Amino acid sequence: MIFLDAAATTPVRREVLEAMWPYLTGDFGNPSSHHSLGESAATALAGARTATAKSLNCRPAEVTFTSGGTEADNLAVKGIALARQAADQALNRVVISAVEHPAVEESARYLERFHGFAVDTVPVDGYGQVTPAALAAVLRRETALVSVMYANNEVGTVQPIRELAALCREKGIPFHTDAVQAAGWLPLDTKILGVDAMSISGHKLGAPKGNGALFVRSRTRVEPLLHGGGQERGRRSGTENVAGAVALATALALVRPGQEHVEALRDDFIREVLAGVPGAHLTGHPAERLPSVASFCFPGTSGESVLLELERQGVVCSSGSACAAGSDAASPVLLAMGIPSDVAQTAVRFSFDASVTAAELHEAAAAVRHAVDSVQTLGIR
Ligand code: PLP
Repeated sequence: MIFLDAAATTPVRREVLEAMWPYLTGDFGNPSSHHSLGESAATALAGARTATAKSLNCRPAEVTFTSGGTEADNLAVKGIALARQAADQALNRVVISAVEHPAVEESARYLERFHGFAVDTVPVDGYGQVTPAALAAVLRRETALVSVMYANNEVGTVQPIRELAALCREKGIPFHTDAVQAAGWLPLDTKILGVDAMSISGHKLGAPKGNGALFVRSRTRVEPLLHGGGQERGRRSGTENVAGAVALATALALVRPGQEHVEALRDDFIREVLAGVPGAHLTGHPAERLPSVASFCFPGTSGESVLLELERQGVVCSSGSACAAGSDAASPVLLAMGIPSDVAQTAVRFSFDASVTAAELHEAAAAVRHAVDSVQTLGIR
């Protein structure tokens, strides 16, 4: 099998498993316990926080461990907006981009439904990018928070985060970015990026599913979503996932952003697919994209049929469209980029990790040619 679905999840790296193993077995203590087992767990948790902070170039106290990217996004969007509204009732609008992951989009909708917020959506261009001018146009005096993802999970487009964050900083508006897909591929230095909050998730990086972190710059207030024993300095109650935190910190320390060889392989793959499949077109930005993502539309097919055919040929990837209630629904991300609905339903995303080889991608490109050809010949939609 050729696994080209690393944006969905990745296998746990051996080094990560080895680092977390003691905290699942012999050193299984609760970090809040005062005996030696607890102290050993607390030391491991503190070490994981320091290491994570090092990877993000921030202070350990600015890192909150969560159950993953979804929780980190929820905590950032709801927690920061609610804290600002509590301090000033007039701050009752949030800005999100038109291509956010549902973890951000639905958090904003929750604020709208239950807390009287208005949601302003900043549009994207045909490549899925938010321009600083487009963001500036939607910012208001009442804007409590802006959330724009670092890199898109469906098409891989990378946003001009530094410029967007700088614009918000000038206006005194906290800026959050969902860096779940960017982590592992792009620099995560929170000082250089200038963001006030940033979400990451372990399972996209070689750590297990169910762990992540939210960076929140000190002095940015966050209303907690989980109440209880006051763990994570009151930001996120619940007994900490010590092994998960160690796994996340280890995985982050192992990744090396800026992997040009993967970028070159991706570009060869894109060229081969575009040359081999008549009518195929690349979605997302041609250059400002994750090294690891190649996404296409194959007009005249359905993305789901192409996926099934590819899997029969041993290539595993995913469609760009969310499958709603068992029927193909066009991806809101592609629609926001101006792609017509019938074309958006033909989307397929290939995403790989740093171990991908030229031979695998060459084989995959040939499989794509055959898969699209057979779907078109059979008229399957
Ligand atoms: N944000 C983005 C951009 C994602 O791609 C994902 C997962 O696919 C998430 C958030 C959610 O992360 P998790 O699966 O850790 O909840």
